[in-house]
Amino acid sequence: MTAQKLPENLHRDTLAVRVGIERSQYGENSEALYLTSSFVQPDAETARKRFANEEDGYTYTRVGNPTVTGMELRLAALEGTEAAIATASGMAAILLLGMGLLRSGDHVVCSQSVFGSTLRLFAGEFAKFGVETTFVSQTDVAQWRAALRPNTKLLFAETPTNPLTDICDIAALAAVAHSGGALLAVDNCFCTPALQRPITLGADFVIHSGTKYLDGQGRVMAGAICCSQKYVNDVFWPINRTVGMVLSPFNAWVVTKGMETLAIRMRAQCDGALALAQWLQAQPNVAHVYYPGLASHPQHELAMRQQSNLGGAVVSFDVRAADAAQARRRAFHVIDSTLVCSVTTNLGDTKTTIAHPATTSHGRLSEDQRQAAGIGQGLIRLAVGLEHLDDLKADLMRGLQQLDTLQ
Ligand SMILES: *Cc1c(COP(=O)(O)O)cnc(C)c1O
Repeated sequence: MTAQKLPENLHRDTLAVRVGIERSQYGENSEALYLTSSFVQPDAETARKRFANEEDGYTYTRVGNPTVTGMELRLAALEGTEAAIATASGMAAILLLGMGLLRSGDHVVCSQSVFGSTLRLFAGEFAKFGVETTFVSQTDVAQWRAALRPNTKLLFAETPTNPLTDICDIAALAAVAHSGGALLAVDNCFCTPALQRPITLGADFVIHSGTKYLDGQGRVMAGAICCSQKYVNDVFWPINRTVGMVLSPFNAWVVTKGMETLAIRMRAQCDGALALAQWLQAQPNVAHVYYPGLASHPQHELAMRQQSNLGGAVVSFDVRAADAAQARRRAFHVIDSTLVCSVTTNLGDTKTTIAHPATTSHGRLSEDQRQAAGIGQGLIRLAVGLEHLDDLKADLMRGLQQLDTLQ
């Protein structure tokens, strides 16, 4: 089974619903789900050729599966890369990236504000194998440049960051990486290709957690690396077929169907997030709102340029408080007063989620580290879904308006 023949120069909205694998002999309109661990070979000689890589053809799902291939083709089409390789989760994609590009003695430069598990992967797991990582400011390009060493192989960035939505300049980081003979990987989980395509800005690899907006409905774990065909064929696929961090065909099918509505979901969720951010800014019990779509955001102009004029669907805000203890009590009160929002740290769902980063996603940091990262006890993160805005405002208002009568 191969990629279908589609006309050239189709728009991305069309690619999102049309790119995949050829229909089977049954002519199904919705993509088929090949939920099988192995594939029957027509004869022994064909099996020999397929196992020797002399002929294309599926043999075993750890090595390849048509439903997974369909998801990879669709995601690559949206990101504008030649190819993509799917993995069992977003973290598996970053591990595969490191296994493919790094060896003992190599050096990595990474933003200090990346996803918590990514920090631990570079600082802990890769360090065990002799790969050293320097963590630098998300927004200060000079720090990235100064951290380069002769053995620097990889720069790793994520933008916007969670939960404060700091933006890094992808094109500037690509220039820094290439000037030092290194490669740039960008985790595009928060923006997705609907808003931001790092490859067009000079990045070499795009990382995805398909668990978030690509699925978009909070159902499955998935991940991917999007890059050149050569890197997929020569570097990542040989490793992944051996180590087995492969995506299940069922999960690939769910994400494939999720991508069909990605662009309209992202636009609606970004519009909702902007409206909510503006509303929050006007609330007397809100001290500060962090959202790239607001003119008050320190990298507002860069964000608008880099993210198709959209701010993303994640909004964070500080409740007004006199000290850290009161801030935590007040933030907890706002969170616990919601009846619509889901109290969970996940994001990228059609259901709005609300979280207290200081005691959940960033709970393992010391108070000093948290202060340095700017994550206070009064901070609340919202990942805006598709509910009606008035219902979301009322849900937040319930707790916010009671803060004056609270201790
Ligand atoms: C969730 C997330 C990951 C990890 O993805 P999983 O699918 O949970 O393994 C990586 N990067 C970012 C920015 C994330 O939000």
